[in-house]
Amino acid sequence: MNRFPENEPLGYSDTPVLPDSGYTVHDGTRPQPPIVTPGTGNSAPSDAIVLFDGSNLDAWESVKEKGPAQWQLIGDGSMEVVLGTGDIQTHESFGDVQLHLEFYCPPEIKGEGQGRGNSGVFLMGLYEVQVLDNYNNPTYADGTVGGLYGQCPPLVNAIREPGEWNSYDILWECPVFEDGVLTKHARITALLNGVVVHHAKELVGPTTHKELSPTETHRSTGPLKLQDHGDLVRFRDIWIRPLGQIDHLPS
Ligand code: MG
Repeated sequence: MNRFPENEPLGYSDTPVLPDSGYTVHDGTRPQPPIVTPGTGNSAPSDAIVLFDGSNLDAWESVKEKGPAQWQLIGDGSMEVVLGTGDIQTHESFGDVQLHLEFYCPPEIKGEGQGRGNSGVFLMGLYEVQVLDNYNNPTYADGTVGGLYGQCPPLVNAIREPGEWNSYDILWECPVFEDGVLTKHARITALLNGVVVHHAKELVGPTTHKELSPTETHRSTGPLKLQDHGDLVRFRDIWIRPLGQIDHLPS
């Protein structure tokens, strides 16, 4: 219901002009924000691209085979890594996004350190946010669950016990290259189980193993990739909201 009386303007026009938008303060002609219906429980908000809801793997492909994704659908609405089939990625590429997904590490304790419940979420197919069963299982800090692998540990370790579901909510800002030169680093804000593990954290460059990250130019968008690291990790409720070009904050 419109809380303003009929024929009354929604706002003001005799107020100062905002320098960034050209609208006035409380401008009555400024476009209304789109209406989005939030999800309930585990469902996606109304404007999200649903990448996985438990019913099929149609949005995904095998990185190794360049064909259909070979991971297994589990009857409970999740999918599970099929060992040896390799990573899977979305057909579609994305730039700046809001991402939600949930993951589950096997309840059977097997292996230690990086060898227990390891997978990963790769933004743009290049930048890994670590998935690992770090419950009573320490490893090197920048390989901890929630970590930007090889670059930056999470602020905290907020993993649940193995056999329980965990959630990631991630805001991703792409790096910017101008004339082949990196002018703006990729930036991430991430929550693991509702707890902030990165806040506007800049990444050096794409994920590497035992090496410094390169800063060469790369594609401006990329698929979302999930890692087969040899453990039976499950995923569910994966949705994404492209954000368009974010007004990058000054560093
Ligand atoms: Mg990993």
